[in-house]
Amino acid sequence: MRYNAATPTCKRAAFMTAAWFPTYPDRCGWTALLPARTLTPAISRAGTVKYAVIGAGYTGLAAARRLAELDPAARIVVLEASTVGEGSAARNSGFVSPRDIPAGTSQAELRATAALNRYSEEGFAWLLALMERHFIDCDLQLTGRIKGAATDAGAATVRGLRDGAAALGVPHDYLDRDAMQARIGSRYYQCGLYTGEGYLLQPAALIQGLADALPENVTLHENSPVTGLRRAGKWHVRTDAGEITADRVVLATNAAVKNFGYLRRRLVTIYTYAAISAALPENRLHHLGAMADWGLLPAHRLGTTVRRVGADRLMVRSMYGYERPIDPALVAATLTGCFHRRYPALADVALDHVWGGTTALTMNGAPFWGQIDDGLYSSAGCNGAGIVKGTVLGKHLAELALGQDNSNDLRAAYGTANWIAPEPFRSIGFRIISAIERRKAGLEA
Ligand SMILES: Cc1cc2nc3c(=O)[nH]c(=O)nc-3n(C[C@H](O)[C@H](O)[C@H](O)COP(=O)(O)OP(=O)(O)OC[C@H]3O[C@@H](n4cnc5c(N)ncnc54)[C@H](O)[C@@H]3O)c2cc1C
Repeated sequence: MRYNAATPTCKRAAFMTAAWFPTYPDRCGWTALLPARTLTPAISRAGTVKYAVIGAGYTGLAAARRLAELDPAARIVVLEASTVGEGSAARNSGFVSPRDIPAGTSQAELRATAALNRYSEEGFAWLLALMERHFIDCDLQLTGRIKGAATDAGAATVRGLRDGAAALGVPHDYLDRDAMQARIGSRYYQCGLYTGEGYLLQPAALIQGLADALPENVTLHENSPVTGLRRAGKWHVRTDAGEITADRVVLATNAAVKNFGYLRRRLVTIYTYAAISAALPENRLHHLGAMADWGLLPAHRLGTTVRRVGADRLMVRSMYGYERPIDPALVAATLTGCFHRRYPALADVALDHVWGGTTALTMNGAPFWGQIDDGLYSSAGCNGAGIVKGTVLGKHLAELALGQDNSNDLRAAYGTANWIAPEPFRSIGFRIISAIERRKAGLEA
């Protein structure tokens, strides 16, 4: 995975070069499991539209759809540098949830979670309605969610979540090591908390389904990187095929917003990695536990995510690269270790697909959402949970772009990404914090 080379400039009056955007040498494993999809044509000529959306992930597609709904006479163009199915929207682990559980039981924590859950429920319901209306088969399963703890510190986190779930009235089961083994087939975890709330899905199938069901007045162009953006009356969006002129632009490129000169002091690009195992034969499926479908999130945020994929495969996700990719050989070896440590009886089973993706983190965990220039809007910094969050924030961003400003409640719920120290302090800080956190994560990794 690499960014293509040029260092962007960010003079607002002139073109801001976005000569780089995420490209991935490894194929997304989720996409590899799907039949080939017919791509939409790359942009082939200059033109004029009312709205241009840059980036066809969850944020961009939700924004485009909402713009189309609210302004059905408008022409909307979506420009995607890569293909739908090869961006982070497809490369993720497929965990979605309409509700989060508060990390504790204080009134402030309960209120904050309830405020966020209102938006998560809205985003999830919107996705669900689209799946139903457009027959998007993305293996959506109500699996519940297991928070797994492999360390004493993780076990304390799990107990805090158990109290939070009880305070919120969320049905849950506290699982000791034996109960964990019974459910997921691994004795690796000291304990876990099962809640009935979470869903799992096939992310490549979802994003491709959403892209293929866009409204009539939205035109998606894949393999169409935007290489510059400037405002001269209208916005001028530069592509290899010429300029698209637009009244308003939605910049839905997540961390790559920085390449356009914006939010550089608020976002960090993180590379993280996932793998899917080879399919297990029928007589070894009992190693994956008694639950037909399950997803496990680590008690520590730098830990390893594990989920069952269909009846016969496992997916693991782990590792974090700060602003740059990690060596592929190290990734493959580390993910193999994550898998085999948890499932020593499957130590002869290889990983079929290994891939990486980018996501955007912010210092305080809050996204940036709003207008960043006249007629230019962005939502970025999903902090690794962008399927539902990207969807709901993209939808509301379109409403903001149309002057339907409903942002007060939304801003209060999410907060906003705060400033991060400039270089070299930020990378030094990141390395120190991540070394401390990695040590704390211990066996969760
Ligand atoms: C390994 C991994 C596991 C994850 N697991 C989960 C999970 O289980 N659940 C969850 O909710 N989230 C998860 N995430 C995070 C999730 O994938 C992202 O939060 C989500 O994709 C963000 O959506 P987005 O639309 O904002 O950005 P993206 O999905 O990143 O979409 C931005 C798009 O913009 C395009 N782009 C960038 N620059 C340009 C340009 N110059 N011109 C045109 N197009 C451009 C990119 O190609 C990309 O397709 C995971 C991420 C990774 C990498």
